[in-house]
Amino acid sequence: MYDYHVHPGYSIDAEPSGIDEYCTKAAAIGITEVCFTTHLEVDPQRKHLDWFVRVDQRIVPMDDLVWLDVYFRDIENARRKWSARGLKIKAGLEVGYELGLEKVIERVVRGYPFDFVMGSVHCLDHLAISSYKESNLYFPGRQLKAVVGEYFRVLSEAVSSNLFDCIGHLDLYRRHGCRYWGADILHAHEEFAEPLLKSIAARGMSLEVNTSGLRRGLNDFHPSRDIIEMAVNLGVRLFTVGSDAHRLADLGHGLESALELLTGYGIGPVSYLLRQPVHGEEKGGQTPPLTIK
Ligand SMILES: [Zn+2]
Ligand SMILES: [Zn+2]
Repeated sequence: MYDYHVHPGYSIDAEPSGIDEYCTKAAAIGITEVCFTTHLEVDPQRKHLDWFVRVDQRIVPMDDLVWLDVYFRDIENARRKWSARGLKIKAGLEVGYELGLEKVIERVVRGYPFDFVMGSVHCLDHLAISSYKESNLYFPGRQLKAVVGEYFRVLSEAVSSNLFDCIGHLDLYRRHGCRYWGADILHAHEEFAEPLLKSIAARGMSLEVNTSGLRRGLNDFHPSRDIIEMAVNLGVRLFTVGSDAHRLADLGHGLESALELLTGYGIGPVSYLLRQPVHGEEKGGQTPPLTIK
């Protein structure tokens, strides 16, 4: 079992638990591989809100990339300690994608030896639809179709940017949007999702099965089981599984259900090494690509 979406204490919206604490918990609950995916935010309009990281118990600016040296140092130390105990540790990043900021993102993702880079859309019109508070500023007065259409438009730019290995928690608009639009939101992807999923398949990218919805009362993953089925039918073959843990207690949560769902399609979760998908045992990291229909 592995968890490919974990926010250690660098992220200011996470508990201040360090990488070593997450590794201890991972080993205790039978996780064999953990990929840390700390947040990178790039929208200058949200600099006062998002551009901070917690390093050695201090809050420092995110745009001074020196924090990434500390992140990689901590990961390296953890690898030294934990590899002999059977726990693989991967260096990942969850980028909050913003239109037009590809160069800024590229500088970070190509400048450091990440194993895995996930692209996620958290904000529309510079407001975080992932946040209860900010979604209350964005959703009222907007039509469901317009919101979901805009979400998929931004996400399709994220996919075609070629900056990411994986798309995180597709359909995040459901997290708080279900309060505004009820059951209608379950079908809102239908007219938008197909070209996006085809593009993910054609590029050999992966889609995340994010279990955070299970503990937020949605009784489903992000994306929903409907969208996962659509993705499989449209040729997506690479899926990661992740808890999106922002606290130790959520590490590994719901992953067994996510794996069970994938197993039903005859698909095992993919892992990454230096941004290459790995199937089965790692042997130097280079594996033949899957043939995508
Ligand atoms: Zn996210
Ligand atoms: Zn996350």
